[in-house]
Amino acid sequence: MLRTSSVDEMIAQLKRKWIPIYLALLLATLGVTIALLRLWISTNNEQYFSAALLSLMLSSYISWYLVKVLRVKQTPRQLLTLVRCETCGYEEARLYTEGDALFQAKGTCPKCGKGDLVVVGIYLRVPVQVGEQQPNILSRAARFIMLIRRRRGACRRG
Ligand SMILES: [Zn+2]
Repeated sequence: MLRTSSVDEMIAQLKRKWIPIYLALLLATLGVTIALLRLWISTNNEQYFSAALLSLMLSSYISWYLVKVLRVKQTPRQLLTLVRCETCGYEEARLYTEGDALFQAKGTCPKCGKGDLVVVGIYLRVPVQVGEQQPNILSRAARFIMLIRRRRGACRRG
C-alpha cells in the first residue's frame, strides 16, 4: 500500500504542473478556432469552417478536462485513536476525541468483555474509502508515477 499522504502530495504537484499546460492548450486551440473562423469568413471555404468546428471541439474537451482537474480535492484527513485490549489483543481505531492520550484506559473490551481497552496510538489517516471508491484521474496518475519510481528504485537496488 502506498502512503496516502504522499499520494496527496503528488496530486498537489501534478495540479501545479498540469493546470498551466491545460490553460495554454486551451488558449492555443481557441486562438486556432478564431483564426480558422476568420479564414472561413474571408475565403468562404467550407473546409476552414469544419476545421474551426474541430478545433472548437478540442478546446471544449480541454476545458472539460481542466474543470475536472480543478475539481480534484485532496482527501480529508481524520485523526484516529487506536485502542487495544490488554487481555485478548483486540484492536479498534476510533475517531479521536479531545483528551485522548496514550496509555489512557477506554473502558472494557467488547470482544472478550474482561480486558481493559488502552490507547496505544493516535495518528492521522486519510479515510481509505474516499480514495478507493472515488478514484480520480489525478490520484490514479499520482499512484502510477509513484509505482514507476518504486520499480526503478527496486531495479537499482537489485
Ligand atoms: Zn479483549
